[in-house]
Amino acid sequence: GDSTQITRHMIEPLSKDFPLCMRNIHQSLRAEHHLKHGARQQYGLFLKAIGLPLEEALAFMREEFTKKIDSDKFEKQYAYNVRHMYGKEGRRKDYAAMPCQLIILGAPPTAGDCHGCPYKHQDTKVLERSLLKDGLNKVQVEKILNFTKVSRFDKACTRQFEFARGMMEGGLGQLVTHPNQYYEFAIQVRD
Ligand code: SF4
Repeated sequence: GDSTQITRHMIEPLSKDFPLCMRNIHQSLRAEHHLKHGARQQYGLFLKAIGLPLEEALAFMREEFTKKIDSDKFEKQYAYNVRHMYGKEGRRKDYAAMPCQLIILGAPPTAGDCHGCPYKHQDTKVLERSLLKDGLNKVQVEKILNFTKVSRFDKACTRQFEFARGMMEGGLGQLVTHPNQYYEFAIQVRD
């Protein structure tokens, strides 16, 4: 692609510019040293689209997963899946990152899953806590939660983008429709 190549060591510092869906998966991976299928797809294709090459993606996942399982098991059970996402196995299809609509309308997370869109799938209390922890004030959080209640997940995510960056409501000038678009906007307005 035309995106810059990044290394796995850049993921952690870059993650502050990720949308909440991807930050949730990232934190879960760091905490659990494991991701279930839905999260591996959602996050893996997102990372690929921000410019993480296959070898770095494999090393990144291997480093986390092998805190819990041995590397032999990683190679057998998970490496294929990573290579497959990069079009190196199976039908060799070059899979694109998932847009918000696919994440929102896709299989909802069940117990132990961390994929999905937090504005659609997360419990209101959990979402509220994480937005407050992120530094948003109560009025801002309330506005976001009101959008989730009327299923305007795009508006909820866009407001979070704006509030977290000290922008006025509507300041972004468009709605978030893709996690990678969120990331591109975020690095443009950074600093
Ligand atoms: Fe992720 Fe899209 Fe949901 Fe934002 S609206 S959290 S980018 S799925």
